Amino acid sequence: GPRVRIAPSPTGEPHVGTVYIALFNYLFAKKMGGEFILRIEDTDATRSTPEFEQKVLDALKWTGLTWAEGPDVGGPHGPYRQSDRKAMYQPYGQELLDKGHAFRCFCTPERLEQMREAQRAAGKPPKYDGHCLNLKAEEVTARMEAGEASVIRMKIPTEGSCDFHDGVYGDVSIPWDSVDMQVLIKGDGMPTYHMANVIDDHLMKITHVARGEEWLASVPKHILLYRYFGWQEPVWMHLSLMRNADKSKLSKRKNPTSISYYSALGYLPEALMNFLGLFFIQIAEGEELLSMDELADKFDPDNLSKAGAIFDVQKLDWLNGRWIREKLTPEQFIARTLEWASENERLTEGLKLSQSRISKLGELPQLAGFLLSNDVGVTPASFSGLKTTPGETLEIINTVQADLEKLVEWNVEAIDQELRAVADKLGKKLRVVTPPLFVAMSGSSRSLPLFDSMALLGRSVVRQRLKIAAT
Ligand code: ATP
Ligand code: GLU
Repeated sequence: GPRVRIAPSPTGEPHVGTVYIALFNYLFAKKMGGEFILRIEDTDATRSTPEFEQKVLDALKWTGLTWAEGPDVGGPHGPYRQSDRKAMYQPYGQELLDKGHAFRCFCTPERLEQMREAQRAAGKPPKYDGHCLNLKAEEVTARMEAGEASVIRMKIPTEGSCDFHDGVYGDVSIPWDSVDMQVLIKGDGMPTYHMANVIDDHLMKITHVARGEEWLASVPKHILLYRYFGWQEPVWMHLSLMRNADKSKLSKRKNPTSISYYSALGYLPEALMNFLGLFFIQIAEGEELLSMDELADKFDPDNLSKAGAIFDVQKLDWLNGRWIREKLTPEQFIARTLEWASENERLTEGLKLSQSRISKLGELPQLAGFLLSNDVGVTPASFSGLKTTPGETLEIINTVQADLEKLVEWNVEAIDQELRAVADKLGKKLRVVTPPLFVAMSGSSRSLPLFDSMALLGRSVVRQRLKIAAT
């Protein structure tokens, strides 16, 4: 049967987009009697971390998807983490050099920057200019022996176009002169995404590559690598990205995109999978409520839904409500709620913060409830009891909103520092700046410590609540 995969890069909070692509592959495997595997693509050592990898695994497990092979379950084509496969890639770079399909490039970052600068000035897209393409073998050897740093780049045909079939897009034609002489092996010997991705898909016997449409333009490079190595290329399927209602690409700046946001608020994984699965199938109105098995049953890769994937949060809420009301028995509902509560980090951390601030457990919902609810009901009137004028309140909220975007790390210390910097910038005391933020976060001026609360709520919720407070 077919073999498909999801190949996330652990460079950030697990994204609903990753789950959307994973679900497609999972349903495809289930429907076609194939296998779905998981591979971690962490060749970008500067951005990948073990913490994000753990979060990706946890998020995928939370969805209920299962994989036949992966870094956690092993399998016959492992290891399933690219950083553990480092040594396996080396011979392939050499093979391409030997066959004349690739070349050593000694260009320094400074030279490349100058080149791109000139291309930008001329209004041309940035693309390697072939400076090292025709170096003599003796020169290459001499410079290597002298210890000069180099990378391996792939050669690209100079004429014609790369024509291929995509299971979603149909026939695609991309002129070769628009394709860059991609770096395949970096200076430190690590492969780039393109190189590692193709080698691994081949070695892991992947037959169908289904991924986001942002990779469509990379297919010519990948096809060329398959040809250079003499390997059978997979079937390509590039799925349309999910979009906001205004048709812009779903991105964390507009909509919460992290899986942990949805799990913390009590969306059921079944409902989220149901919601995402509807993007792939054609059904009549009234047939929306579907389990994973039902989704797989209705899934037909030859007849994918043509409707764009609009991430309509109201529809997700509606489906989640239906799952809660119609698919769970009262006993299941109680069990699931307790399970959600005990595994909910926001709740458990919120309880720790609450312990010293209450005299009866019954005060908890009032004190800590804002950590869990979707909407804390903030209106302009919520700010009326504060010492700051409406103008000052708005200035504080807008400044904090803009400055928090600059934070790289999201934790209590970073938030603390940033808010002190905001207070300085506005020429106000910290205790003047914080009350409007208390209200924006919790809807009340009596709540848990602000910096801890913001750290717990997470970047996307804080962003959302500040946005609501500013309107
Ligand atoms: P930004 O908000 O900076 O644009 P992002 O939301 O696009 O970032 P990334 O970290 O670039 O997030 O993407 C993480 C993963 O999610 C990638 O594998 C990408 O293919 C996938 N992904 C991102 N956005 C979407 C989308 N709109 N639809 C489907 N998949 C997406
Ligand atoms: N690591 C890539 C990503 O996270 C995988 C792309 C692919 O499926 O080829 O988007």
